[in-house]
Amino acid sequence: MDCIFCKITSGVIPTKLIAESEHAVAFNDISPRQPVHILVVPKEHYTDVADLTEKNPSALADLMALATKVAREKTLGSFRLTFNTGAGAGQTVFHAHAHITSTAVRD
Ligand code: 5GP
Ligand code: ZN
Repeated sequence: MDCIFCKITSGVIPTKLIAESEHAVAFNDISPRQPVHILVVPKEHYTDVADLTEKNPSALADLMALATKVAREKTLGSFRLTFNTGAGAGQTVFHAHAHITSTAVRD
């Protein structure tokens, strides 16, 4: 297994989870670019959000529900939800993930 997010979701690399659902986990980005920078990642491996959408729409819906819940808990209500899709769009980890970013932290 040489996918970093598979290692995180399977526990091979121990990572403090912010939240978890049936199909997804949320944890802080290792290199935050905003005061809130959380990744929401499906437990199963899909290359990107397009692959996830095509192959497992119910896991996508579950991931979106978790992302919305975490974003509401960790921000003041304004946030970006970003899925970089393809190297040309800045995707560097080819296991689907949403970035939750916000300048407004809820303490
Ligand atoms: P992408 O560029 O693919 O949209 O986003 C990948 C993100 O994963 C980057 O923001 C990067 O900082 C983050 N990242 C890469 N490796 C790790 C890791 O081992 N742990 C965590 N928590 N985040 C990682
Ligand atoms: Zn993976």
